[in-house]
Amino acid sequence: MTKYEAKILDIINTSQKHMTIDEIYNTLKQDEPKVVLATVYNNVNKLVSNRQVIKLSIEGQIDRYDKVTKHDHLICSVCGKISDFYFSDLTSKLEKELGGVIDGYDLRIRYVCPDCKK
Ligand SMILES: [Zn+2]
Ligand SMILES: [Zn+2]
Repeated sequence: MTKYEAKILDIINTSQKHMTIDEIYNTLKQDEPKVVLATVYNNVNKLVSNRQVIKLSIEGQIDRYDKVTKHDHLICSVCGKISDFYFSDLTSKLEKELGGVIDGYDLRIRYVCPDCKK
């Protein structure tokens, strides 16, 4: 793993938000002023294909990147804010209904976040 890859992985893993390429770039730049956006882009894509980070594609939003720790997402229908949520694991329930082994699932719950409810 290259120096940049390791730093980017660390940024994504420690971030509480779901960062866009620009946000990752701006964070890394504080540490590595010479880094260019294309390098960040290439390294992030490499991390995605190595399954070390997850690309979150949500309709109507630009791609965001997330840690691989199993968790689910709540997405606000009004402001688009994405929050992590840890539901109990549904793998065995889904496998039972499907009658076969699954690789995983991606749960996205749409709701109105507390800020938008006000
Ligand atoms: Zn909201
Ligand atoms: Zn997440």
